[in-house]
Amino acid sequence: MEVECGTIWNDCLEIIRKEVDEQNFNTWFKPIIPLRSEADVLTIQVPSQFFYEWLEEHYVPVLKKAVHGVLGASGRLEYSVIVDSGNHQNPPLMVNYPNGTGMKRNSGSQNQNGNGNLDDYSPFSFKALDPRTVNSRLNPSYSFDNFVEGDCNRLARSAGLAVAKKPGVTSFNPLMLYGGVGVGKTHLVQSIGNEIKKSLPDKIVLYVDQNDFTNQFLNALQNHKLQDFQNFYLQVDLLILDDVQFLSGREKTQEMFFHIFNQLHQSGKQIIMTSDCPPRDLKGFQERLLSRFKWGLTADLQEPDFETKLAIIHNKMESDGIEIPTEVAEYLAYSVDTNLRDMEGVLNSLMFHATLLKKEIDLELAKEVLKNIVKEIQSDVSVDFIQKTVADYFKVSLDSLKAKVKKREIVIPRQVAMYFCKRYTQLTLALIGENFGGRDHSTVIHALESVEDMMKADSNFKNSVDELSKKLKLRMVS
Ligand code: ADP
Ligand code: MG
Repeated sequence: MEVECGTIWNDCLEIIRKEVDEQNFNTWFKPIIPLRSEADVLTIQVPSQFFYEWLEEHYVPVLKKAVHGVLGASGRLEYSVIVDSGNHQNPPLMVNYPNGTGMKRNSGSQNQNGNGNLDDYSPFSFKALDPRTVNSRLNPSYSFDNFVEGDCNRLARSAGLAVAKKPGVTSFNPLMLYGGVGVGKTHLVQSIGNEIKKSLPDKIVLYVDQNDFTNQFLNALQNHKLQDFQNFYLQVDLLILDDVQFLSGREKTQEMFFHIFNQLHQSGKQIIMTSDCPPRDLKGFQERLLSRFKWGLTADLQEPDFETKLAIIHNKMESDGIEIPTEVAEYLAYSVDTNLRDMEGVLNSLMFHATLLKKEIDLELAKEVLKNIVKEIQSDVSVDFIQKTVADYFKVSLDSLKAKVKKREIVIPRQVAMYFCKRYTQLTLALIGENFGGRDHSTVIHALESVEDMMKADSNFKNSVDELSKKLKLRMVS
């Protein structure tokens, strides 16, 4: 019997070899061991559930052709999947399927195969990872404590906290966080990872960005280590995949991720992903993967508003033991309007000046630092000039900008002028208010926020602001 099934399988391999390229042949067919053949059923042993699924996804026609070619039209194939490689004392634990239905996808059936305690096994623990020593690739400096909460990130943060308390148990699985550059996605997901490591030390936590994942996968593929690769991933209790959008167009990597995702999700493991856009806008992804992304909770992080930026600045400087005057913090919160990563650069540079060069942190130093980092701030432009340019542009009188008029046709130009004063001068909010008929600093903040909101909501308005901005900048560099 042994010999017979070996011969049958060898004949099958001859047919398969003609159908697939060498690399795939070596990866997917060589590791298969023929176990037995009874009547017209050939049973083959495959090293893992994943392996089985991959064959079923990709090679059913090839396998069919081979089995039918060797055993005749009624020939069928059964899989025996190793779910625990065992050792000398304990023989490998195996699960058979598809229980006679023949070459049909039968995923998830391992729990119904009579092995009552199968769930007790980690199916792929060939090389068991130790949660205490495994490298989680987390940066310990990211935590919930130093993640400032604001309207811009409230939902994402509380979902993150819920997941950190009960990974895999809430309905937030997967948790998909999205948002533009520097809105705090990496900070937040790393905080979740760090929190779980601290409070649930038996959990295996892994943070990878898309780039690491892809490179590891390609490396494994090249070196015929796919088994090791997925054995590793399937032992993880919390998988964080950062910047998933870059998997776009990478079909094989997506394929692998899809399988890992399914396995982890099925066994109640937590998955967290980040992306620069909502799943519906991700391009170059397989539909079935996108639909998985939407299973749990999708939450966005927005650009931080002025108050949150201010809190982030204070928070960061304080944690480094440096005091920053409010007017400097306000100036930075408004002037660095690209993203928080640039802000971090500016703050680091300020700290460098303050600690190593023993300079005092004041507006002058802040301005000097900004000059080197944010090109836009090149030189000063006066409040008068801004007010005049804006008044001309909107065809309103200069005096009305400074008066207490509350008509909409005046209010909007006035707010725009305030916005540019904050952006292009070093005046504090209070001083800007002074220049607009003695308004207080909260009125100025309100103006700045309104302008930003309107720019987001109304593209015509945004164009006007951009146009004005060009006029003002021309003056600055001349
Ligand atoms: P993303 O991954 O969304 O591009 P990051 O998480 O890398 O953004 O954030 C960029 C920088 O801004 C990091 O230094 C991060 O610590 C900081 N940051 C972002 N959001 C917050 C926040 N809410 N509180 C504190 N720091 C933040
Ligand atoms: Mg990031």
